[in-house]
Amino acid sequence: VKNSGRKSFRYYSRALHDAIHARLRMIRNLRKALEENQFEVYYQPIVSLKTGHITRMEALVRWIHPTQGIISPDIFIPLAEDTGLIVPIGNWIANQAIKQLSYWRKKYNPELKMAINLSPVQLRSQEFDDISWIQTLQREGFHSGAITIEITEGLLLNSETRVNHNLKMMHQAGIQIAIDDFGTGYSSLAYLRKFNIDFLKIDRSFVEDLQGVGYELCTAIIAMAHSLGLGVIAEGVETEEQKKLLIELGCDYIQGYLYSKPLPVAEIEKLLILPMHD
Ligand code: C2E
Ligand code: CA
Ligand code: CA
Ligand code: CA
Repeated sequence: VKNSGRKSFRYYSRALHDAIHARLRMIRNLRKALEENQFEVYYQPIVSLKTGHITRMEALVRWIHPTQGIISPDIFIPLAEDTGLIVPIGNWIANQAIKQLSYWRKKYNPELKMAINLSPVQLRSQEFDDISWIQTLQREGFHSGAITIEITEGLLLNSETRVNHNLKMMHQAGIQIAIDDFGTGYSSLAYLRKFNIDFLKIDRSFVEDLQGVGYELCTAIIAMAHSLGLGVIAEGVETEEQKKLLIELGCDYIQGYLYSKPLPVAEIEKLLILPMHD
């Protein structure tokens, strides 16, 4: 018994040791990825249920690792957040997305909009005036509503001074705010009002379950959002059936594999070739 205990301890510490090393290696590689331009922004269309047209794109980052291939943001974003690397990486992503929007507006659709994911770490660690992509945005001179930032509910819960200030300044700069993965956190009506939220994005898990309890949840979220004057985007729409139910419920926009996966610029442009209006 004693012996096997020792043995499992040895395995455990070996596994722990390996995990720590893998993590350190990834952190080193993440720094290198930024220096060597290994990130790429993919885009996924958000489609209006009223017109059937693409009204905005969501920027979703990918790490194209030279030997490991595409690494998912679910893996490296948390690490980038822990190390603070999310600030320079996030600035790079937003700068890319803004320049891309500017190009697409000139080439395909002057009304197209862009959604950019912002980590809570970014909104906590920088002052509005130091956020480098805001300067890019101001140079572009887009009118109000061209850019939406997507944040999660957790950010609104503990009223932090810097976060409040940054969100307010973003609004004043014409940036709209969407709550991502809505329904999985704890935000209340009061928060949505207080922070002047513009859009709710219904979490994919509810859309997946639209034939079940998700139906009631979506009904409630859409009714609440509309009563507050907010737009609603349903995430993770994969089937015609889900789309049909969402139209019935009066949802405004859908996003998901039914229309398109997130794709690199050259591929997503094929969807923008058709003339479109908001
Ligand atoms: P998210 O912001 O909730 O993004 C939606 C995720 O759902 C994306 O995963 C997207 O590819 C996926 N998705 C979209 N439609 C469907 C569908 O119909 N079915 C299914 N099964 N999935 C769908 P992705 O691109 O792997 O991103 C994962 C998460 O990583 C994002 O969740 C976001 O939290 C984070 N992330 C991605 N890009 C960025 C970024 O530029 N900055 C920050 N801070 N976070 C990012
Ligand atoms: Ca998002
Ligand atoms: Ca989401
Ligand atoms: Ca998410």
